[in-house]
Amino acid sequence: MEKYLSQLNDAQLEPTIQVDGPMIVIAGAGSGKTRVLTYRIAYMMSKGIDPFNILSLTFTNKAAKEMKERIATIVGASEAKNLWMGTFHSIFAKILRIEADKLGFPSNFTIYDSQDSDKLIGSIIREMQLDKDIYKAKQVRSRISSYKNSLITVRAYFQNPELKEADAMARRPRMGDIYKEYVERCFKAGAMDFDDLLLRTNELLTRFPEVLAKYQNRFKYILVDEYQDTNHSQYLIVRALADKFQNICVVGDDAQSIYAFRGANISNILNFQKDYDDVKMFRLEQNYRSTKNIVNAANSIIDKNQTKLEKIVWTANDEGGKIKVHRSLTDGDEGRYVASTILETKTKEGLNNSDFAILYRTNSQSRAMEEALRKRGIPYRIYGGLSFYQRKEIKDVLSYLRLIVNPADEEALKRVINFPPRGIGQTTVDRLIVGANGYKRTIFEVMKNIDKTDLKINSGTKNKLKDFVTLIESYQVLNQTADVFELAEHVTRTSGLLKEFGKDTTPEGVTRVENIEELINGMKDFVEGQIEIADATGSLSEFLEDVALSSDLDNETEDDDEVALMTIHLAKGLEFSNVFIVGLEEDLFPSAMSMNTRSELEEERRLFYVALTRAEKQAYLTYALSRYRWGKLVDSDPSRFIEEIDEQYLEVLTPMEERRINPMLSADIFGDTEPNKIRYKPAKQPTFTKNKTPKKEPEKYVAPTTRNLKPVAKSSESSGGSNLFDNKLAVGNKVKHIRFGTGEVLKIEGAGADVKAEINFQHGGTKKLLLRFAKLEVI
Ligand code: ATP
Ligand code: MG
Repeated sequence: MEKYLSQLNDAQLEPTIQVDGPMIVIAGAGSGKTRVLTYRIAYMMSKGIDPFNILSLTFTNKAAKEMKERIATIVGASEAKNLWMGTFHSIFAKILRIEADKLGFPSNFTIYDSQDSDKLIGSIIREMQLDKDIYKAKQVRSRISSYKNSLITVRAYFQNPELKEADAMARRPRMGDIYKEYVERCFKAGAMDFDDLLLRTNELLTRFPEVLAKYQNRFKYILVDEYQDTNHSQYLIVRALADKFQNICVVGDDAQSIYAFRGANISNILNFQKDYDDVKMFRLEQNYRSTKNIVNAANSIIDKNQTKLEKIVWTANDEGGKIKVHRSLTDGDEGRYVASTILETKTKEGLNNSDFAILYRTNSQSRAMEEALRKRGIPYRIYGGLSFYQRKEIKDVLSYLRLIVNPADEEALKRVINFPPRGIGQTTVDRLIVGANGYKRTIFEVMKNIDKTDLKINSGTKNKLKDFVTLIESYQVLNQTADVFELAEHVTRTSGLLKEFGKDTTPEGVTRVENIEELINGMKDFVEGQIEIADATGSLSEFLEDVALSSDLDNETEDDDEVALMTIHLAKGLEFSNVFIVGLEEDLFPSAMSMNTRSELEEERRLFYVALTRAEKQAYLTYALSRYRWGKLVDSDPSRFIEEIDEQYLEVLTPMEERRINPMLSADIFGDTEPNKIRYKPAKQPTFTKNKTPKKEPEKYVAPTTRNLKPVAKSSESSGGSNLFDNKLAVGNKVKHIRFGTGEVLKIEGAGADVKAEINFQHGGTKKLLLRFAKLEVI
């Protein structure tokens, strides 16, 4: 441990070894806040604190995973395994599963993603016969979300005439009724949406003192990263849990509070000292991430905000290159400039694609960037678009799986009851919904007892409903014995999903089938990976929970060398050698919707501060004079944020200079600069957000259509492709694993399809792998 503590400066060391009592670290970007949290946990464990008693809350699961890996290298993998570390949502989803019955939920409750919520709200609006142009599902959802995050329950809503009045003023007098119906329907479907994961946790901790006591005693030490972005609901959970022992350590930076639009409350960090007694406050001032130019430029920006805590941020790093500012004529030119510069810099400086990030204010800006990168063959990856798990075909498969776990799940049922088509029309579904509401049963229960109901459904359709029930029930039986991978393979084949998607031979159709294969491959990894996690069971519901709470930041694999594209919101906490901040134009960044009040504008400025401070070596600011927005070419002015940076840190590249520096490049950039020649062809919307590079995996799961899976599946025929299962792997063999690298076989156990090998991997420690799934190669 001593060795590791020496990797901290004095200011970092102090909060790291301050274990007891409430404390806060407030410091600027790149000053080592996350590092302090990480080392502090390792330090606590080295002092004998049981990891079981430590709860660490991060902003993304990816951050949690990285911290855990770092801690594992310091204190050992087996110790680190017992840490509870993750996002608020994933940690409290786990707790809610354990305690679900107290709230009247099944422990297998479904987690509705925003698409599910939108659909349910959409159907409620339809059922209530409201005008869908006034009651827009997405807007209604965001309103409901803000109630929930402020802990305004349905009852609280109806007790507060001001809320009702505000909604009436916004021409939505029935808001409360929709909210009520939505909450009831989720409850009946055994489903929680994202906001419920926090709201229901609060409910659990306030209504059941013994539950609160249980988790207070368990989580004796609580740590929170990015505390400036906690919302009210999260704030209350932390307060409640920390109340008994008050061993709470939060770190954050008020200058990086960027989620007010989602209910984050900057005063949580500002008021921390008032919430607990004898709070120790620490400040870190030295930035380790960025060059002097970047740090100073960022300081000059945030200086313009009035609401802030005064902070010093300096760095001993090199001066670095000045921040480059580039003007383009159109968004297309901007994309070309970025792509060419990446190519050029990469070659000149011997960098990888993954050393570059392109950050933007809104997701829609990615299109022009993508097009330019694709033209130059630069591999890239877009984060935070439609996540893999939200694609149609994937949601279809997942909906079948969700129904197996929780047949009450209304959204999953509605999605697949007639997909692939089996002759159950919308009218029938509508009657089932009415019936379910009338009988106060779930739709699935009504279908199961369809003969006993008085619903107007003809006997042919009734039989089809019964067949569907039988199908799902047969999957439930299989779920008792098969693992997630085997089950999914069986379901995609026997439900007719694969056949249905297989009919479509267009590139989109082929992609859909490939995506399903990728999903099933992922399940294989899940089954493998779970064996080493102590408290995980590898069950289907666990898989579904992982899926519901994963963002595509989490699914990154290390060997992908791709330029990262994402919104600034998503980039929080991350760092890249070279960063392009694009679309720096008035009304785009700062956003047109944020110019009404000073506080909104200040939040935009913080967002810019976050963007700039992601860069380690070089930052680029780009803007275009005109840009296609909503299908129209709109003129734009450079963002005020560029002007606000002290000019000594900037290098303004005029297009002429750019042309002189690199004539090759300029041909590219200025290829279509004459205004009357500016053409805009809407790019075909890619079905993939990922620009696929060929997989490096040695073998791939073969399309299930060609193979035969026995329903009771623990047999070797259900093998997923690879394998050493037939190859007589022996103790002492040196092997290579796609994810864990090289290792040595320590032990072999089990028989038949369940043969497992215990392997000591050079980098991943000791792992037990199921051979029929493990992607191993003897070396
Ligand atoms: P942000 O506000 O962006 O979340 P942060 O304050 O959490 O930033 P870290 O991400 O912990 O900062 O650290 C920034 C970078 O500096 C990381 O690459 C980290 O490894 C490095 N770093 C931090 N402290 C030190 C140190 N004492 N010596 C060397 N490198 C350090
Ligand atoms: Mg951090």
